[in-house]
Amino acid sequence: MQFTDPYKKAVYSEPAPILDPDNPFQAMVERFDVAAKILELDPGFYEYLVTPARVHITAIPVMMDSGQIRMFEGYRVIHSDILGPSKGGIRFSPDVNLDEVKALAAWMTWKCAIVSVPFGGAKGGVICNPRELSRGELERLTRRYTANLMDVFGPDKDIPAPDMNTNEQIMAWIMDTYSMTVKRTEPAVVTGKPIVLGGSEGRREATGRGVMTVTLAAMERLNMRPSECSTAVQGFGNVGSVAANLLTQQGCKVVAVSDISGGYYNSAGLDIQAMIDYSREHEDSLEGYSEAESISNDELLTLDVDVLAPCAKEDQITKRNAGDIKAKIISEGANGPTSPRADAILRDNGCTVIPDILANAGGVTVSYFEWVQDRQGYFWTLERVNRRLDRMMHKAFDDVFDKAEEHDVTLRIGAYVLAIKKVADALELRGIYA
Ligand code: NAD
Repeated sequence: MQFTDPYKKAVYSEPAPILDPDNPFQAMVERFDVAAKILELDPGFYEYLVTPARVHITAIPVMMDSGQIRMFEGYRVIHSDILGPSKGGIRFSPDVNLDEVKALAAWMTWKCAIVSVPFGGAKGGVICNPRELSRGELERLTRRYTANLMDVFGPDKDIPAPDMNTNEQIMAWIMDTYSMTVKRTEPAVVTGKPIVLGGSEGRREATGRGVMTVTLAAMERLNMRPSECSTAVQGFGNVGSVAANLLTQQGCKVVAVSDISGGYYNSAGLDIQAMIDYSREHEDSLEGYSEAESISNDELLTLDVDVLAPCAKEDQITKRNAGDIKAKIISEGANGPTSPRADAILRDNGCTVIPDILANAGGVTVSYFEWVQDRQGYFWTLERVNRRLDRMMHKAFDDVFDKAEEHDVTLRIGAYVLAIKKVADALELRGIYA
């Protein structure tokens, strides 16, 4: 995107200009720019808010089962701690890279602001393939990553959570490593823990539940009835499988889902619970599921459905396929599934995109509930967690929708305007120390 005055001087340009249009950090900055112009954001504030506050890169030596030492590279990016301690997941994947982690950290800042939880944004990642690691290797990698970042993490400083390929067990190891080092049990240092260690009821389903809540809210605004809507869900992990299941329970017909093994289609509607059971019994994979027609992931995205929920990974909807998308609503369970080029095409085609920083904010909302419960030492019922989550997601959807209408922009830009304004207002009140 071409920057023009008054922001020209303030364009983020260190350590190097990011030119790749599919680069997730660049994608974040492009949306940020549009919102910053609407807000007439001061150039100094622009530069402050777009720049990650701290970037940690750490070398992680792991003693492999073979007796060999192998080095892994890990990251933790604190994008902002203006609204509170920073919060964000940790991703284990061979594709992890610093730009992705920086983008994800920034998205966490905006996400927390949108749902009004008192956190800043952070994200972590380790370049590794957890499927190739034994349980012992995974534990040693997790504990050493945590030990290396002891000064960064803390319940009042920076609070990790699960993300792609990390789970409750990994959060338990992080909590234990941190607790052993500070010599007291400190559950609030991490969220997404097992219930017995101070996890929250409803946390595992929270992101998918939030996707369901905002999708229904959008249907209501667009006068679409759930019982008349067909849905396709890309990704069948934590977010996708729960979103698909809950949308089915709300009367939507989920006709297609996919995971890394491919897409599965049935025009009469899939038996989502049976697919969840199948995936659980087959190492979290739908490979070999036979009660559906096989389709490719690309075909799934362009199916003639009312709702498309990309719940897998970044950059799935780009200028290459956006023009072929037929869904009226896209509900972004994944982070960054749509590129900025695709945004414009979808807008022109009348597709309503519920942006990731709103649609998948249910996870961080219940993470916040978990942190509150850990600090209180008093735990809520599932019913209370879900009721509060639904209320906060509904309010966030309404706030974003109103902001988008006010400025006659897409929900994505409305969400950025809402979030950036909140963080900028807080920054103005706090001021710059020294
Ligand atoms: P997960 O690891 O549980 O599931 C990912 C799913 O995507 C798996 O089914 C995998 O097979 C599938 N997948 C991977 N590559 C694919 C491809 N190319 N095509 C189709 N499917 C593919 O991860 P998750 O926790 O469900 O996270 C999914 C997305 O949601 C990520 O972008 C993550 O950052 C985002 N997210 C997760 C949470 C959370 O609470 N888990 C919260 C907010 C956002």
